[in-house]
Amino acid sequence: MCHYLHPQGERHKFIADQMLGRLSKWLRLMGYDTLYFKSIDDIELIRIARKQGRILLTRDTGLMRRRIVKSRVRAIFIEDDLLDNQLRQLIRELNLDTERLSPPLCVECNSPLEEVPRERARGQVPSYVYRTQDQFVACPVCGRYYWRGTHWQHVRKRIRTLLK
Ligand SMILES: [Zn+2]
Repeated sequence: MCHYLHPQGERHKFIADQMLGRLSKWLRLMGYDTLYFKSIDDIELIRIARKQGRILLTRDTGLMRRRIVKSRVRAIFIEDDLLDNQLRQLIRELNLDTERLSPPLCVECNSPLEEVPRERARGQVPSYVYRTQDQFVACPVCGRYYWRGTHWQHVRKRIRTLLK
């Protein structure tokens, strides 16, 4: 069975700048609550990070130099444009959990996914997937369906590879 409760203990939460859309999706796949907006100004980004205790992820050196970011917000400057290097940097710097990956959040909208009865996935996922998979989860907010096999394995494999 899959459990979609977060393990005990404080987990990092993030907010990423506009340049980090792909990284945000990967963090969600790893189960890390990550806000990302296609269009958001710096002030708003900082405000949300402060208010919600989120780590600000940015590729913008100007943003990093702002006084409020230096003193009041935990911010991490993402050093590279390549996704693998970005993930590697974060995993190492924050010691992110890659062994016991948490239940993923919806890649599109960051909402916790819910288990759905297999029957409900019929017609919502490709028929090959429906025939071959047992467990499905869906996003209650945007309606997107996910299945265990491919998504989860893909995440684990890629993370293992990049940490080698
Ligand atoms: Zn969603």
